[in-house]
Parts: sequence; C-alpha cells; structure tokens
Amino acid sequence: MGLIEHEADWGLVIAIDGPAGAGKSTVGRALAERLGLEYLDTGAMYRAMTFAAQQRGVTEGDLAAVAEMAPDVDIVVDGSRVLVDGVDATAEIRGRAVTAAVSQVAANPAVRAVLVDRQRAWVAERGGGVVEGRDIGTVVFPDARLKLYVTASPRVRAERRVGEIGGDVDEVEASIIERDRHDSSRAHSPLSEAADAIVVDTTGMTVDEVVDHVVGLLEAAR
Ligand code: C5P
Repeated sequence: MGLIEHEADWGLVIAIDGPAGAGKSTVGRALAERLGLEYLDTGAMYRAMTFAAQQRGVTEGDLAAVAEMAPDVDIVVDGSRVLVDGVDATAEIRGRAVTAAVSQVAANPAVRAVLVDRQRAWVAERGGGVVEGRDIGTVVFPDARLKLYVTASPRVRAERRVGEIGGDVDEVEASIIERDRHDSSRAHSPLSEAADAIVVDTTGMTVDEVVDHVVGLLEAAR
C-alpha cells in the first residue's frame, strides 16, 4: 500500500497552519502533488468572503451584516482559481483592499462557522486532502494524520512576498506582523500551534528540502 490508505471519517488529511507568508501554500501544493492528494487553500475562502462584502457594499466590521451575507456567498476554490458568486476573483482576492480587511472578516464567528462547514464538506467529498490555513489542525481537522506548523522569520517571509508580488520589504514586513497579531489574538479560532503539530521552520530551506522533510515526517508518522 502506498502512502495513501483508507482512513475512517475524513480520509487522509494533512493540516498545514502557520503565519502569513511562511511558505504554507508552496509547500502544501508541492506536498499534495507528491502524494496525489488535492489541496485546499482556506485563506482563499476568507479572502473571497472579504471580497464579496466589499462588492456588496457591506462594511467588513459590521458583524451582523457580514453574518447575514456569509451563507449566501457562492465560493468556488478550484486549484488556484477562485470564483466568487460565479465571477473570477483570483487576482482581486490577493489585492491590497482584501488583504487589509481579511483578518477582520475572518474574526467574525458566523463567517468561520460557514467556512469551516464548507472546508469539511470539501474534504469529505474527496476523501482527504492537504488543507492549509490558520486553524486547520486545532479546529477544523483535529484528527488530521499529520499536522504541520510552518513558519519562518518575519523578515524572510516579507522578502519572499516581495519576490512574488513586489513592494517595499519594510512595508510588507510591517503588514505581515500586523496581520499575524490580529490572527493570533482574535477570540475565535486564533492562529496557534496544535499541541501535536510538528513545527517546520522554513527559514533558509528550499521548497524541495521542505517537501522532502515533510514526506519523511509522514512516513515516520505511519
Ligand atoms: O492564507 P492567507 O494569508 O491567504 O489568509 C488570509 C487571512 O485569512 C488570514 O490572515 C486570516 O485572517 C484568515 N484565515 C483564517 N483561517 C484560516 C485561513 C485564513 O482566519 N483557516
């Protein structure tokens, strides 16, 4: 039998959590490909919800209005393409306006309830997957086979972001630190390491090195 075998409930789930820009997506996608699993970027769902609020003129900080809207927003995450209410918003959800407001929308418990249900349904339909976010190992899939907490120094994270999307490294670093602070201090499902997560510090590692390391961890965990 290969790395993937039948498991009860959700199937083989690999949970990847960690702060912004630590390399979770790159590692998650590479790992999914290596293991023949599908990959879900849950951050894209929170970004899509934020974009939907902005499109509809709903104030991001208005808890009740965002809660009322959330169940009606149609979000399709198809690989790296994201459709919001049937419209391709792949580029928009990575833009400044969404990035600046997403932590506020993600702190709304009604939004979290809607999206956590959808994340579990996504995995149930596929019988497993590599799922990446902030609360995957702690809240969404506490029984995941392998839980990784992927991190790197704020400076390195900022430098990687600038390499991908441009910008000023000091400014990007400041915004990353601010988003981490917001995500770690919220009342509902804050960013935190699951007690049984394995910490992977990607500072100074290449993607291939990280993936090899994680595949080794998965084999050891079986
Ligand atoms: O992963 P990404 O940086 O795109 O996530 C955007 C934001 O979505 C995070 O800063 C966080 O506020 C929120 N998020 C979350 N829970 C998740 C995934 C993302 O709260 N599971």
